[in-house]
Amino acid sequence: MAKKFNVIVNVPALQTNTPFTYIANDAIKNDIKIGSRVIVPFGKSERPIQGFVVGEETTNEFEGLKDIISVLEPEPLLNKELIELSEWLADQTYAFRVSCLNAMLPSLVKVNTKRFIKINETKITMETVLALLGEEQVTDLKVNELSFSQQKQLNQWIKDEFVTLKYVTEDSAKKKMINWLWPTMDLSEYEQEQKKLRKNATKQVELLNIIKTLDVKKGISQASILNDYGVGRSTLNTAVKNGWLVRKAVEQYRDPFEGRQMQLDQNLALNEEQQSAYNLITQAIEDKNAKPILVEGVTGSGKTEVYLQSIQQVIKKGKTALLLVPEISLTPLMVKRVRARFGTQVAVLHSGLSDGEKFDEWRRIVRNEVKVVVGARSAVFAPLRNIGIIIIDEEHSETYKQSDAPRYHARDVAIHRAKKFECPVVLGSATPSLESRSRVERGRYDFVKIQKRANQKALPNIQVIDMRQHLGDGYNENFSAPMVEEIRHRILRKEQVVLMLNRRGFSSFVMCRTCGFVLTCPNCDVSLTMHMDSRTMRCHYCGHEEAIPRLCKNCGSDKIRFFGTGTEKVQQQLAEIIPEARVLRMDVDTTRRKGAHERLLERFGNHEADILLGTQMIAKGLDFPDVTLVGVLNADTALELPDLRASERTFQLLTQVAGRAGRADKTGEVLIQTFNPDHYAIRLAQKQDYEDFFYKEMYLRHLGKYPPYYYTVLVSVSDRDERQALKNAYEMLNIIQPQLSANAIVLGPTAKSISKIKQKYYYQILIKYQREPKLHRALLEVLNKSQEKFRQGTRISIDSEPQNFL
Ligand code: ADP
Ligand code: ZN
Ligand code: ZN
Repeated sequence: MAKKFNVIVNVPALQTNTPFTYIANDAIKNDIKIGSRVIVPFGKSERPIQGFVVGEETTNEFEGLKDIISVLEPEPLLNKELIELSEWLADQTYAFRVSCLNAMLPSLVKVNTKRFIKINETKITMETVLALLGEEQVTDLKVNELSFSQQKQLNQWIKDEFVTLKYVTEDSAKKKMINWLWPTMDLSEYEQEQKKLRKNATKQVELLNIIKTLDVKKGISQASILNDYGVGRSTLNTAVKNGWLVRKAVEQYRDPFEGRQMQLDQNLALNEEQQSAYNLITQAIEDKNAKPILVEGVTGSGKTEVYLQSIQQVIKKGKTALLLVPEISLTPLMVKRVRARFGTQVAVLHSGLSDGEKFDEWRRIVRNEVKVVVGARSAVFAPLRNIGIIIIDEEHSETYKQSDAPRYHARDVAIHRAKKFECPVVLGSATPSLESRSRVERGRYDFVKIQKRANQKALPNIQVIDMRQHLGDGYNENFSAPMVEEIRHRILRKEQVVLMLNRRGFSSFVMCRTCGFVLTCPNCDVSLTMHMDSRTMRCHYCGHEEAIPRLCKNCGSDKIRFFGTGTEKVQQQLAEIIPEARVLRMDVDTTRRKGAHERLLERFGNHEADILLGTQMIAKGLDFPDVTLVGVLNADTALELPDLRASERTFQLLTQVAGRAGRADKTGEVLIQTFNPDHYAIRLAQKQDYEDFFYKEMYLRHLGKYPPYYYTVLVSVSDRDERQALKNAYEMLNIIQPQLSANAIVLGPTAKSISKIKQKYYYQILIKYQREPKLHRALLEVLNKSQEKFRQGTRISIDSEPQNFL
């Protein structure tokens, strides 16, 4: 008998959290599992659309139901646990279920993909496949055009490994092509060719000798001929022209490690503090205790070693491990260390991978081929089964919170999954978030501290430079005399320097000195930023670009000045002050290309530069033995932002970056330039005193009725028409306000601090509360209303515990 399944459909303008029921007839019912992606007819026109199977319906009622058209893959990319998770996630983050399901999947399958069939010629012929599909050629195989029986047969072939499916995004340029060469003649013919050559054509002769040794079937990559055999490019091109070799572009399989072999390493002997952290964690693994464990360990305390040995323990038990790291900047280093311990049992998931690589890694996980997944935020949804530990490194990092729907925090998802799997969640940081640390106080998390660095070195000595007193030092606005002095010392001693420019909410803009006019974006309420590399002014919100003005657009004066500071400008200034220093710059502009980040670090590690100059992205994870000076050029900018976490972020950032100094034998020094030397975030970062900072900041949060004492939720409304935006904001307020007690605090609706972005006006309502049982329902009602508003052009979003108030 046919079965019935509940399907969440993917229709952007008609989102709902209620599934629709469809019939799976006998032909496909066995291929459908919870988590399968299916094509179903939708609406009056019965348009085929994609959906996710979220449950089975067991009633006997089939009246009026439509049939599922086809199943997209015989092995679902999501499993039952993740399907259930999506329901929880939708409810928690005030998002639609389908956007949660989409957020879980790797990006390649979210976009419009085409499926290609690859045939295993040892098992099936091309003719058989073509006959089934009724096609001349297997190229673009649109799923919704397959009948049940076609899809069923195809799924059987996939299971039998007769064919495999390949997914390609609409722009199929994503395929990685490399040049490959094959011999064309037999040995005697090559001998003939060799005789025809002139005596002095030694390079040609050499190449022919190489060709004669090649495997005719296998051929060789062009890169290998050029690099391994040292053949010149023109010699090779001549050979192809002569017909000695045939050259074709072939697709190369996507491997995020590019075939690099890993030297496996060994466990280090844990020191006493590491051992007690390890004991706490392994005891929790043993006891199946899902209570989160906060590991507060100073920078360089060897937290990673504790993670790795804990993971090893989990693998020994036949379980799997999930390790989350903040963002792309940390991933290559961390991945290297994890791979060195666990080899090919590791899969990686992060934004630095191509869509294809991500998709391939995802399927390795689905197929149970890996034991450890290392990844950034969205890897928290990795389809691992039998998870034995979830570790979140640098748990305070704001990158764990997604700012678009579904606005989830990876930490919350991890804790939820861990409860399901009855496994510990380990949160590690030198500067834990106030949320996590306060949960320790309230007994909700277990806690262990590592107070000494693993290499027995003292934490670096930190000096604060009061820029108010060094403004006249004679260099420029970015460099005080002591900073320049210290940098010069290191260069003389052939040591290395890391310089950080804090660019948060801060950039270089253009102002007219005659009339005060500032060049702003025509679409957004922000000033444009100058970019020297492209010689343009750019908007960081919408991408608008225009030429750098020579005359003021307002008054025509030529007295235009550039304010603020970018890494490029600092690089120029460095070249003037210390011309002998070799500088590597690391910021969004120099790391846009895939792998660029890793290459820059490798070059710095090889001493190809004396100074690594960068933005926040250099603050985390770097571990270079010869770095003895870390300089922070401007510690203040984050403090000026209208953000309740400004002090916390500043403290975290300074502590992190200070941790980059003196990692090996040489002691490190840190210089922090600031206009606010008395600010507690800076004073306590100087002492590297997290605990002191925690209590001070908690006190201020208490006074201000902020998290972690109060919960926050932000409702944002945007529209091209400013009045509509404000009107709708009030409408939402009227849904929420009546449900709140007198203890809740409602701020707004007010214009956002950047009130116009991409031609749209933004208003927001901030609600601070402690216990409001009716609020959740009210916000779900706002979510439902948002669909109707969406169709009228108004966007409404709900952000629970927002990390960003701008
Ligand atoms: P964290 O993650 O806490 O910042 P790391 O794990 O990066 O610290 O460790 C810092 C350095 O100390 C690394 O070079 C690491 O190899 C080394 N290390 C860690 N644990 C030990 C140990 N038990 N014995 C010797 N060296 C260690
Ligand atoms: Zn002017
Ligand atoms: Zn703009």
